Amino acid sequence: MKVAVFSTKSYDKEFLTEANKGRYELVFFETHLSAATARLANGFDAVCVFVNDDLDREVIASLSKNGVKLIALRCAGFNNVDLNQAKAAGIPVARVPAYSPHGVAEHAVALILALNRRICRAYNRVREGNFSIEGLLGFELYGKTVGMMGTGKIGAIFAGIMKNGFGCKVLAYDVHVNPECEALGVRYVSKDEIFAHSDIISLHLPLNKATHHIIDASALEKMKNGVMLINTSRGGLIDSSCLSEGLKSGKIGFLGLDVYEEEETMFFEDLSSQPIYDDTFVRIMAFPRVIITGHQAFFTDTALRNIAQTTMNNIESFEKGSIDPANLVISP
Ligand code: NAD
Repeated sequence: MKVAVFSTKSYDKEFLTEANKGRYELVFFETHLSAATARLANGFDAVCVFVNDDLDREVIASLSKNGVKLIALRCAGFNNVDLNQAKAAGIPVARVPAYSPHGVAEHAVALILALNRRICRAYNRVREGNFSIEGLLGFELYGKTVGMMGTGKIGAIFAGIMKNGFGCKVLAYDVHVNPECEALGVRYVSKDEIFAHSDIISLHLPLNKATHHIIDASALEKMKNGVMLINTSRGGLIDSSCLSEGLKSGKIGFLGLDVYEEEETMFFEDLSSQPIYDDTFVRIMAFPRVIITGHQAFFTDTALRNIAQTTMNNIESFEKGSIDPANLVISP
């Protein structure tokens, strides 16, 4: 089988080549898959794609016309794929449902600690010989209320760290109760109760119609003044147009983002020698109590190894006629 791998970085090439063990012909493209680049998949049996590849209606029609028979996502989320079109075209969509939920949960905690204890500011000061601790006052996590939205694989690990590791009170909102979280003593409440009572709100939801802009201006209004907002899930969960106002008014005391609504044109690229044209992003970054990382929560050696292995296994099992149902988003 010939596989066109899109959005390839050096680490994708390294880990996929290792996991492939010479089984398939992998051709690596640095470019994203989009309507403009879909022609590159001509003559390939499968495409292997990541979070910011755009598999809309037009792209899938083009893939289908060009003989592509499998879409292998090397991520868990599939909000960037037009599933109806894939179904209609008879192209199965396989994903990596869990590659290391620990990495993402730990990154959410890293953002919380770095924001709370002003680690970035302190690091810069000490490097310049400024040992003043004025302005670095933090708060203790012990006893604070953490509201988590989404209690799946990542959320459950995050809950364990906050509860057992820091002694926080953990409230949760989800359409399904996770017994693992219940066993930890997490209390399930309504969305509004999360907003009203949480000192820290961390998002662990998938992006779908129901969760799109789940944090908007009206949600912010219901939150405690000075709330810490953490998003390591998907940018579209937060209406980014209300963030700058929230930061300016002090409603949002701290903001930690690993994902951003309009990240497609920026994240994973070195844009350091050109201006950033996204005014909302630039404005948010200008606030001192904000830390933004560029979608790196998943980026651990364990996760990359797991992603590569599951992706190559999905391709192999497709060739053999049956993909693990747990990894199938759309069956043929
Ligand atoms: P999961 O599927 O295990 O859990 C998601 C939870 O959200 C489930 O418990 C589900 O019931 C709940 N949910 C779904 N729709 C809901 C709704 N409308 N209202 C309330 N609850 C709802 O997923 P996971 O593995 O824990 O991952 C969570 C998200 O993290 C993923 O969807 C992905 O977007 C994101 N993610 C980010 C990175 C990163 O590098 N930043 C890496 C992996 C995953």
